[in-house]
Amino acid sequence: LTIEEEYRAKHPTSQARYERALRDFPSGVTHDVRYQKPFPLYVERASGAHKWDVDGNELIDYTMGHGALLLGHAHPQIVEAVQVQIRRGTHYGAGHDLELEWAERIRELKPSCERVKFTASGTEATLLAMRLARAYTGREKILKFAGHFHGWQDYALPGEKPPFDAQPIPGVPRAVLESVVVAPVNDLDFVERRLAEGDIAAVILEPSGASWASIPLPEGFLHRLRAITERTGTLLIFDEVITGFRWSPGGVQGLLGIRPDLTTMAKIVAGGLPGGAVGGRADIMALLEFRDDPEWNRRRVAHPGTFNANPLSAAAGCACLQLVADPAVQRHADAMAARLRRGMNHVLVTHGIPGFVWGESSVFHIALGHTCTNQRGEDIRMPEGVSPIVLKTGMSPALATTLYQAMVNEGVDLFHGGGLLSVAHTPEDIDRTIEAFERAVLRMR
Ligand code: PLP
Repeated sequence: LTIEEEYRAKHPTSQARYERALRDFPSGVTHDVRYQKPFPLYVERASGAHKWDVDGNELIDYTMGHGALLLGHAHPQIVEAVQVQIRRGTHYGAGHDLELEWAERIRELKPSCERVKFTASGTEATLLAMRLARAYTGREKILKFAGHFHGWQDYALPGEKPPFDAQPIPGVPRAVLESVVVAPVNDLDFVERRLAEGDIAAVILEPSGASWASIPLPEGFLHRLRAITERTGTLLIFDEVITGFRWSPGGVQGLLGIRPDLTTMAKIVAGGLPGGAVGGRADIMALLEFRDDPEWNRRRVAHPGTFNANPLSAAAGCACLQLVADPAVQRHADAMAARLRRGMNHVLVTHGIPGFVWGESSVFHIALGHTCTNQRGEDIRMPEGVSPIVLKTGMSPALATTLYQAMVNEGVDLFHGGGLLSVAHTPEDIDRTIEAFERAVLRMR
């Protein structure tokens, strides 16, 4: 059997589900990244680092809720917290104790978040942070970096995908595109020159580098960016939707001791349920306040949202943040990811297969078919001698599809040409994944 024939043979029920899905959803999927050839998998249940598809196949999971599940699937304390809350009601149209605890836990882990607002997703969080920055500075433009992902709202899209040009984007008004400046990959000289013009409200970036460290940032980058933004009165927004509680209990800002003006969060912050947040300087967040002044209230920054701080997400978020405040969680996930990156690179070097695996914290990316000059069969944080476009896109679509299928056949579910780990991944999971990777790439030769 070919790799694809084996994939089809192992997943007849998923295939049937997909045929149904094609009548429900465009291309049969509910998130762009879940699109897979010849069809994606349908999953029935998940626990810890594992999940089971509708054909009964067990998979070691590296999608981990698109990065939301640092504690693994169905963590008992989160399940318990949500079960307790759901019996008490899911929406009060009022304040509740859990939203207070949730915000207090965020403020404790991220002291830069002097005030907090909850949203229903990371996309909403970046939208709100950008609006706040424009309102606070009275400037209209946002500067973002080529390749950095900030969700699917209009202002977040320019320059995200190679070739990193800003326009045109179907459905996005030209006026919006013109209000977003895209800085070339990791180019702080450009940023310094552009910010000197004085019309940029904020710089937003993934403080891991684009797409969770696929285009890593050079040493000292964030400190220099903080200095440039401060000097020009430009706000600095850390989009910590992925890194927030994964890079350290306090995110990248906690790890490096940098204080952004605003921070966007989602995924881990809501413990695996939908939810996001914006936190930041009290004087900026004050633009959301109501005051006894009709003129002020007319100009205040609006932020409604039916499911802001909904009690179920708050329950999951509180339980999750309590657990991830212990740095042993990140240490374990980091160690497992480093073991995986090392093991996969060792496989590639041993068999002379072109490719490399890189990442930091508890994430990894795979680029088969490309070479970097610092591939020594060890862990790699910053691949050398590789174009940023290769780092952002990884493998060719054909190789990515074949590797994905070959790994699924071996019982491993990759995400986006790589994956994210959790505290539930064990050394045995990692070693099984490395063995699976070895069989997969040898079969692909
Ligand atoms: N920002 C970053 C860095 C992300 O990785 C994502 C999602 O992957 C988002 C924003 C958007 O978050 P959401 O998918 O919750 O809207």
